[in-house]
Amino acid sequence: MQLTFRQREIIGIVKEKGPITGEVIAQHLNLTRAALRADLTILVMAGLIDARPRVGYYYVGDDSRSFISEKIQEMKVNDFKSIPIVVKEEASVYDTIVTMFVEDVGSLFIVSEGGLLQGVVSRKDLLKVTLGQGDLHKIPVKVIMTRMPNIITTFLDESVFDAAKKIIEHQIDALPVVRLCAGDPGHEGNLEVVGRFTKTNITRIFLELVEGK
Ligand code: ADP
Repeated sequence: MQLTFRQREIIGIVKEKGPITGEVIAQHLNLTRAALRADLTILVMAGLIDARPRVGYYYVGDDSRSFISEKIQEMKVNDFKSIPIVVKEEASVYDTIVTMFVEDVGSLFIVSEGGLLQGVVSRKDLLKVTLGQGDLHKIPVKVIMTRMPNIITTFLDESVFDAAKKIIEHQIDALPVVRLCAGDPGHEGNLEVVGRFTKTNITRIFLELVEGK
């Protein structure tokens, strides 16, 4: 919402001196109470200030904003992730495309025989290869995937806010949710895929926040 200069002045006064009556706000601005009525109504309706009878106006803007950001920081990827759809790296591009249709997802995670994360393929990666002359049955998906260590990942305990930032910053649709494989701590190649965190998950979080769940 675009605030006028006057509305920003009012917010400044209420923030500093609230609770404060409309009469006193008007005095600060050298205006009549009546001249302020419309702006006060707009600011209350926008949820930036509130009024209590016989108390006056007080500031709520920051409180509600920090409430939402605190809530988002508390929400963990673990609570909102989806089931990962994985394909073995030796699978053909053809079979990978079929899996994408059957499973109805936009990104597939490519794993080794042992189930460790090796790469990611997106819809456009697969579209691109279909434009070439090669036999899709014979090209293994590992040839066209985006591969480790260039895969952007998230983990169960990460806040959904940080995961959403990764999706926006790297301009991708999905993050594999990973766990370091036991027995080989610190070895960045040994990541087990335990979930999928996508733009759809973020949209769902947005709806839940708005619906106040
Ligand atoms: P699309 O290509 O269908 O628009 P994306 O935006 O998700 O889908 O993918 C863009 C590119 O980034 C693709 O080449 C894809 O392989 C790659 N990519 C997708 N997800 C990741 C990820 N989590 N980490 C690294 N690269 C990724």
